[in-house]
Amino acid sequence: MAMKTEARAVVIGGGVVGVSSLYHLARKGWSDVVLLERKELTSGSTWHAAGLLPLFNMSYSVGQIHRYSVRFYQELQAETGMNVGFSQVTNIRLARTRDRWDEYMYYAGVAETLGIPLNVLTPRQIKEIWPLCETDGLLGAIQHPDDGYIQPADLTQALAKGARDRGAAIYRNTAVAAIRQTEDGRWLVTTDKGDITAEHVVSATGPDHARIFECTVHHGGVELARGSGRSKKAAESEAALNALAKLRAEQAVAKAGAPSTNP
Ligand SMILES: Cc1cc2nc3c(=O)[nH]c(=O)nc-3n(C[C@H](O)[C@H](O)[C@H](O)COP(=O)(O)OP(=O)(O)OC[C@H]3O[C@@H](n4cnc5c(N)ncnc54)[C@H](O)[C@@H]3O)c2cc1C
Repeated sequence: MAMKTEARAVVIGGGVVGVSSLYHLARKGWSDVVLLERKELTSGSTWHAAGLLPLFNMSYSVGQIHRYSVRFYQELQAETGMNVGFSQVTNIRLARTRDRWDEYMYYAGVAETLGIPLNVLTPRQIKEIWPLCETDGLLGAIQHPDDGYIQPADLTQALAKGARDRGAAIYRNTAVAAIRQTEDGRWLVTTDKGDITAEHVVSATGPDHARIFECTVHHGGVELARGSGRSKKAAESEAALNALAKLRAEQAVAKAGAPSTNP
């Protein structure tokens, strides 16, 4: 299937973050969205994740995402008919020192504010839930009854199905080589399978984000390179883009039948 040449948004990276971004854009009504993955979906760090869903959190915003996720995974299974391997087995954290206990009470405060269920357990209650636990010397524990784990690869595939069902397109084995802003403010994304122009680009390339950042060449020649200097790869990428632009300009002139002004 030939790749689209235009989309409202292009998401780069087919890990759980990229596919989830695609799914949620499509769910918001943006059906003209595309995901580009250089290999196969989940071939990055998503493949290695244990998939634990720790609701223990010091951050209100991350806590909100966790709470949303626990509810959403069940909805997604019902919507797509795909099992994401979600097991709610609860999560218990043991405290042996006063400092650890203080930390847990901070978690408890965040959970309470967010409305996330949390139990404070005595050593005896820990033993009732987990008879094999050695409770001597423990001060107690906190428990999130809704906690558990998912299968990250299965979750990603379910998100992909949900996104495709809403009109999104996913192109696997398609590597992004460069991103350049066009005169009209959109983004030209160059891949090894052709170009695609989009109003918005989402980089969800995980550990490769720095490389994607490096190959982003802003219109007007300002390069958004991370680090102290430009990498060889970024310079090569820009040179390749310039050569491509020159070739296209020459082809356009030749097609119009006008003499080329290039030396
Ligand atoms: C051993 C391990 C255990 C973990 N356990 C947990 C856990 O229990 N719970 C938890 O929440 N998190 C866990 N994590 C973290 C979790 O795996 C990551 O936070 C998550 O997978 C990141 O997803 P991502 O989509 O951002 O990145 P990735 O899964 O790495 O996806 C990035 C994708 O971008 C693609 N890509 C890169 N460059 C390009 C390009 N130029 N063009 C096109 N595509 C490109 C890659 O091929 C890749 O598929 C764990 C991680 C590891 C390594």
